[in-house]
Amino acid sequence: MFRDLFQKKKKYATIPSQRWSNEPASDDEQPQERPKREIPEGLMNKCSKCGTIHYSKELEKNLKVCSNCGYHMRLNAIERIVMTVDEGKFTEMDAGLESIDPLNFPGYAQKLEQQKMNSGLRDAVITGQGEIDGHPVMLAVMSFDFFSGSMGSVVGEKITRAIEAADERGLPLIMFSTSGGARMQESIISLMQMAKTSAALARYQENGGLYISVITDPTMGGVSASFAMLGDIIIAEPGALFGFAGRIVIEQTIRQKLPDNFQTAEFNLEHGQLDMVTHRKDMKSMLGDLLDYHTGKGGF
Ligand SMILES: [Zn+2]
Repeated sequence: MFRDLFQKKKKYATIPSQRWSNEPASDDEQPQERPKREIPEGLMNKCSKCGTIHYSKELEKNLKVCSNCGYHMRLNAIERIVMTVDEGKFTEMDAGLESIDPLNFPGYAQKLEQQKMNSGLRDAVITGQGEIDGHPVMLAVMSFDFFSGSMGSVVGEKITRAIEAADERGLPLIMFSTSGGARMQESIISLMQMAKTSAALARYQENGGLYISVITDPTMGGVSASFAMLGDIIIAEPGALFGFAGRIVIEQTIRQKLPDNFQTAEFNLEHGQLDMVTHRKDMKSMLGDLLDYHTGKGGF
């Protein structure tokens, strides 16, 4: 009977004073020695910026923005679509595209399988047609939880197809970026996606298409240096990291200390890389306003 009680206790996680942990208590741990601050797993989340612990339900209501410090936590593509698109108004495209490990890179095939299992996605972007405040749009939404949002052949191909579909259907295009950069396991095939997506965007924009790029935390490397930076309008979430090379690489290269807010959305806005920084709670209405304006319906 006592053993049963211990088994039940293993469903609980402890919160060390410095660090959040979801690890269950170890078998040999005595119940009376456990820290008192025990909470059921999944019930709470800790802000990685300020350390405040939030009830998961409250955090969801707050669109995963920390109510203490305003940190915009990372969302996966599905959460982002649900938050942005009118209810029931999204049709996914190219859902079956998967990478084939084109270079037979050691360990890549296994890693891909792991990423699929962990994220529930087939690659780091979801594309499709949807509606925002009643406006039909093409969407591409990246997901950092798949391979750190890295751009390989599938991300590049899906984004290019979304751009071309927006062009053919005469629709505005909205892309939410988040990425660590190119997917090194696909080497040059990954880097080629920068040119491919940029060329497709150039054709679309020459044909008069409107492309709104939304930068979310973090957007770095090959994604920032291609389609993320090519928006007619570029919006970022507060605090989002947006740049090409990382801070350490740049500091070592130029041998200078960079400001604390270097590469944040606010720093980029100040230096002319962004058009606006928009809080997550206002993002959908901001996109709706821009689409109103673009289609001649708006009066703002
Ligand atoms: Zn916080």
